[in-house]
Amino acid sequence: MISLERYLELVRANLRPVEVETVDVRSARGQVLASPLIAQRSVPAFDNSAMDGFAVRHRDLQPAKDSSLPRVWLPVTGQIPAGPFNADKLPAGSAMRIMTGACIPDGADTVIAVEDTDCPPGPVPLPTKISVPTDVPLGCHIRRQGEDVKAAETLACEGSLITPALIAACLAVGVTSVQAYRKVRVFIVSTGDELQDPQAPPHPGMIPDTNAFLLSSLVQEAGAEVIGVGRSADTVQSLLAVFNQAAQPDLVITTAGVSAGAFDVVKALKTQADLHFHKVAMQPGKPQGYGSLLISGRQVPILALPGNPVSAFVSFHTVVRAALNRLSGKGSSPHPLGLELLPAQAAQSWTSPAGRTQLLPVARAHRSDAIQVSPICPGRSVSHRVASLHRADAIAVVPAEVTQVNSGDAVSIIPTI
Ligand code: AMP
Ligand code: MG
Repeated sequence: MISLERYLELVRANLRPVEVETVDVRSARGQVLASPLIAQRSVPAFDNSAMDGFAVRHRDLQPAKDSSLPRVWLPVTGQIPAGPFNADKLPAGSAMRIMTGACIPDGADTVIAVEDTDCPPGPVPLPTKISVPTDVPLGCHIRRQGEDVKAAETLACEGSLITPALIAACLAVGVTSVQAYRKVRVFIVSTGDELQDPQAPPHPGMIPDTNAFLLSSLVQEAGAEVIGVGRSADTVQSLLAVFNQAAQPDLVITTAGVSAGAFDVVKALKTQADLHFHKVAMQPGKPQGYGSLLISGRQVPILALPGNPVSAFVSFHTVVRAALNRLSGKGSSPHPLGLELLPAQAAQSWTSPAGRTQLLPVARAHRSDAIQVSPICPGRSVSHRVASLHRADAIAVVPAEVTQVNSGDAVSIIPTI
């Protein structure tokens, strides 16, 4: 047996990131930046008002001598809606009504929120004069040019995931196309004489092929593109025929046929392809294989996952994720497994096998001080429990040397939703 850490290293070392393309950032969600993102302009692009209110000069905010109130009346000399810049200048000793996001007029250095004046908020006629407080700080309610980001600043480094917020950031700083790794193309193949189309009437001895759809949904959720889903009988000839249906995949994922059965078809490919099978010290998911095979004249990386659906699921969240992170240019996290894990707490006790990393489907409950997790299935054998798996929203990762997890213990989890 080899450790899960070591196996993930071997899988990553066998892979190179896909090519880089120039893409319209608006449609690049889920891709990964291949070069740093440099701001082309500052945000905010100009000084503007943070509130609907009145732009004033701070030095005009002197309370009237005969008044005990910290307020002053100022004549209103115009108004500035948000929109195209107009070179307004604020006459000394006056105020201008200004809207959120509108350009601060020359001469103004402070904004008083409408709520702090005697002018009612909303679409009311422009008052001729306005009562404003005098005890406001200089520069109040003004968003300064470049206070968020300055032109030429680096906003995100290579390897950053293009999220909806990063798309907004790009557009705000004047970047409309980016260098990104193209989407990873994945072909998924389930193997087994017992598999039938989930829509077919049930036949004795046969089961619906759930893995193909489990994995294709997971792969899409991870931001890659599923270019096809195939199903093979337990013969090498059938499996090779299915592989040849794949149009230029970056990765082929198979399920089942990798353990000690007499008809384990993926293992039987060993003589025809550069495949490495290992017993990985993980539970479930022990039998695993990786390597490459020739499809339409190209060597294509392959991951051979075990067939039990829960094994395939935990293999996706460890092995396939590691591979997709590498292929997509995302890279690994600093955790020893190179995966994103979160801290949580066991809500109950359970046992874990000696010498194997336990990958236990758990349900999360968010308490005020911690995320608490409970196994979704009592008992040890979970790998076949495809109809219960949907109750899990995380996988607890229990290190190989731990054999007992007690209620209240710290555990690391991989969120799966
Ligand atoms: P195998 O590794 O081929 O012995 O498969 C292990 C277990 O997983 C068997 O019980 C299979 O019936 C089951 N299995 C294999 N492939 C699938 C699949 N695509 N969908 C659901 N269950 C599967
Ligand atoms: Mg089989």
